[in-house]
Amino acid sequence: MNKNSSNTMALAPNTSNKRETVCIFGTGDFGRALGHKMIQSGYPVVYGSRSTQASSLIPKDAEVLSHAEAAQKAAIIIIAIQRQHYNFLTPLAEILHGKVLVDVSNNLKINQYPDSNAEHLAELVPGAKVVKAFNTVSAWALQSGTLDASRQVFVCGNDTEAKQMVMDIVRALGLTPLDQGSLLAAQEIENYPLQLFPMWKFPILLSLGLTAFFFFYCLIRDVIYPYVYENKDFSFFIAISIPNRICPVLALILLALVYLPGVLAAIIQLYRGTKYRRFPDWLDKWMLCRKQLGLVALAFASLHVLYTLLIPIRSFVRWRISSQIISQAQNNKTEPLNTTNAWLSDSYLALGILGFFLFVLLGITSLPSVSNNVNWREFRFVQSKLGYLTLVLCTAHTLVYGGKWFLSPSSYRWYLPHAYMLSLIVPCIVLVVKFVLIFPCLDKPLTRIRQGWERNPQYSE
Ligand code: NAP
Repeated sequence: MNKNSSNTMALAPNTSNKRETVCIFGTGDFGRALGHKMIQSGYPVVYGSRSTQASSLIPKDAEVLSHAEAAQKAAIIIIAIQRQHYNFLTPLAEILHGKVLVDVSNNLKINQYPDSNAEHLAELVPGAKVVKAFNTVSAWALQSGTLDASRQVFVCGNDTEAKQMVMDIVRALGLTPLDQGSLLAAQEIENYPLQLFPMWKFPILLSLGLTAFFFFYCLIRDVIYPYVYENKDFSFFIAISIPNRICPVLALILLALVYLPGVLAAIIQLYRGTKYRRFPDWLDKWMLCRKQLGLVALAFASLHVLYTLLIPIRSFVRWRISSQIISQAQNNKTEPLNTTNAWLSDSYLALGILGFFLFVLLGITSLPSVSNNVNWREFRFVQSKLGYLTLVLCTAHTLVYGGKWFLSPSSYRWYLPHAYMLSLIVPCIVLVVKFVLIFPCLDKPLTRIRQGWERNPQYSE
């Protein structure tokens, strides 16, 4: 019955075009910005404030009354006041009975209070219908009209009709309401604006740590070692040569780290013989930030491409080529073309180009606008099959680049191998284990486990 009537209301054309008055408690930054936007969208706005004196800051078409007077003029009251001042609402409980109270508040810290602000409000005014909304939109964004950060407004509440009324206002303001369910979701919604790139923390910290490690590693091998043993000053390597070693090394390691948790998860499932036991927390968290790890890896790969394009115009490189030519001329001896080297160099470049192309393709398909338009199978094909192919190509690119130096003692300085040799460890482990997992004797039970089969069922029928 209720549902039908609300549907009819939604479908019926609004002949009068008149919107219902909205009351806003609080004439602070957010109350004013929201009021301004509402007036622009055709809503009559009345403010409930401790001071009813006119102020040039308040939108001029809005009325300013006492809290009690303002509340009587509207069915929806937006509480644009900090949580710590909510106590003033208790004496107004009778007037607020049956009204829709919209809690827009945020906190200063994640999980600052044991209960959410919206639940606290519902407790203070038990007769009101509390809805949480608008807390992820900033006063500045509302006022400037740019709303660049996000047009999404998370809405939750226990009363469906009240929630619907608030969602209609959200739509009328040109925003997108996202129904998050009951008031139990309020705490999570209140935490959203306080989060700072939660999924990016681990990838960024890891890449910063690895960058610092490989920077000092290359500094020791490529700058300090030649200085100590050959008295050569290669300190200018810090500008391009060392970054161009670190970038491909990190791109490859991080790409391999995108696929390593999947391989570990498969081993754990095979060992346990069931998929119905939770993975360790660290593995769960690692799996959740694989996209971010991949995007950081792509950023390093792109920098490697840029640095590599610069190589021909580097003064050091031009000096080295010309001195080789001069030495050939002085010795009156032309070095013949080494076809093996030519093959290696061309294959290395070709593998790099193909690997980078697929890397970019993976990055593009991880964009929400693209991933929203492919089905699960297509997404899995790109991210898993093409992802592994990218890893194979990039690993092969690195192997071909330095394969001939692996056994050469001169490439170990102070017993330290080339940085690219270290970069091959994780990708090679991932590829070898993945290759083993493809064998039918492992792949078949794994597929069955992932379809729900258990080696030792916990609950027998
Ligand atoms: P504000 O500028 O400090 O304004 C708060 C308003 O609350 C004051 O202007 C005042 O209005 C009223 N107030 C203060 N002390 C009071 C008391 N003891 N009793 C009753 N009313 C009192 O804060 P704001 O930035 O507008 O934020 C208001 C709410 O919106 C907060 O809960 C905040 O978390 C939330 N929010 C803000 C933003 C933002 O970008 N600013 C974004 C999302 C959500 P009167 O003088 O008219 O009484």
